[in-house]
Amino acid sequence: MNFRNQPANRARWRQRRKNNPLRTVIAAMLALTGLCIIATGNITAGLLLILFALSITRRVQYFMTARHLGKAFRTMIPAALFAACCLVLPPVGAREEPAPAEPALTAQESSTAPESAAASWAEVHFLSTGNSDAIIIRTPDRCVMIDAADQDDEQQILAYLQDLHVTTIDYLVSTHPDADHSGSLDAVVENVTVGQVLVSNGSADTRTYQSFITALSDKGLTPSVPLEGVQIPLSQDSYLQFYNTKAQGSGNELSLITLFVHGDHRFLLMADADQALEESIMEQLPEVDVLKVSHHGSDTGTSPAFLSHINPDIAVITCGLNNDYGHPHQQTLDTLQQAGVTLYRTDTQGNIVIRSDADQLTVTTSAQNTQTAQPASAPTAEPTFKPTPAPTPTEAVLSESDQQSHQNSAPSESGSQYIGNLNSQKFHRPSCSTLPQPQNRIYFDSREAAINAGYDPCKRCNP
Ligand SMILES: [Zn+2]
Ligand SMILES: [Zn+2]
Repeated sequence: MNFRNQPANRARWRQRRKNNPLRTVIAAMLALTGLCIIATGNITAGLLLILFALSITRRVQYFMTARHLGKAFRTMIPAALFAACCLVLPPVGAREEPAPAEPALTAQESSTAPESAAASWAEVHFLSTGNSDAIIIRTPDRCVMIDAADQDDEQQILAYLQDLHVTTIDYLVSTHPDADHSGSLDAVVENVTVGQVLVSNGSADTRTYQSFITALSDKGLTPSVPLEGVQIPLSQDSYLQFYNTKAQGSGNELSLITLFVHGDHRFLLMADADQALEESIMEQLPEVDVLKVSHHGSDTGTSPAFLSHINPDIAVITCGLNNDYGHPHQQTLDTLQQAGVTLYRTDTQGNIVIRSDADQLTVTTSAQNTQTAQPASAPTAEPTFKPTPAPTPTEAVLSESDQQSHQNSAPSESGSQYIGNLNSQKFHRPSCSTLPQPQNRIYFDSREAAINAGYDPCKRCNP
């Protein structure tokens, strides 16, 4: 201040500013950066930066503001432009930040996974609410809730949604009016913002269903029955699709069947469908990766023919410990085991979260969470499946997880190039997301060996 106010010093200062080469270099660098930013597509930010660069050069400053406007005004222009740059630039930085993380996520199958899919993910949460269904599907931008368990589960469901920071449910689905599926729907409608409400065909006069319908009308929401087979997009690479939308009858016969697809991964949620319903929609269904077993593992559903048609690798049974119905029935457990399906159960493993990334499915159970302290949503480089040890597939999974990762990686290290499924007679690359359980595997050294042994190539990993 004082230094600049001395007349002699002031002249020297002005001279130095006029000829300051550093200022020109900085301006040139900023202008270049501006051009680069324009090249990345953010034209506004780039232009602002170039304007800022120009505005700090003495000549342009003089041109832009006549000398008589005063020094204060002249210095305000670069300051204002700089502030504008700061406001516009952060999104550019934020968008560029995740880039280094991508290779790690796609390391396993970087050649097959498109770059844009690397950041894409989806999670399906099967809540442990006893002998009832409460299922949450999440993608980066959307949240879907399918059924809301019994009436006395509402605190648990609302707390779970809160833990996930879910404040909006884009699609709330009621598969059928039974109390173990619609019990807490009214509480969800009352406490969370709901977008669209999709319900099964038919009507019901159960008390729980009536309070759900009342809650909807209080919120000005109108339920609708989805159209058969129409895809409802949730993100650029995921969608919902419904079956049995024209159901007639009552109770479990009305069950709305949900197919959720994320990239190459398919989840089929069977509500409480019985075998007749399974048979009626079977031909429309694709092969899937994950099956939510119908009706809490009851032997009224999950016929061997149906299971073999949809050919899942993972099954989830939502059931209560020591429930009155004897769910899951032994017959269903046998069918699943004979098909070589990896089974998860909410009664013994708690909440089950299946995360789909571009090239793998990761299963986390809350029982396991408490011991490994891993958040359910954390991306992990673990192999496709956590084991469910045979013959009692219900025991804790955690102690085996290290062992499993060793088993899964061993074949590729020891030279086996292809892994066959003894049950489905298909063979896969070791990196495939749908590898069979260890006890159902057969290893081949070459593609020819697998073909000669009568095995078909997997449609997902194309070995
Ligand atoms: Zn039911
Ligand atoms: Zn049920």
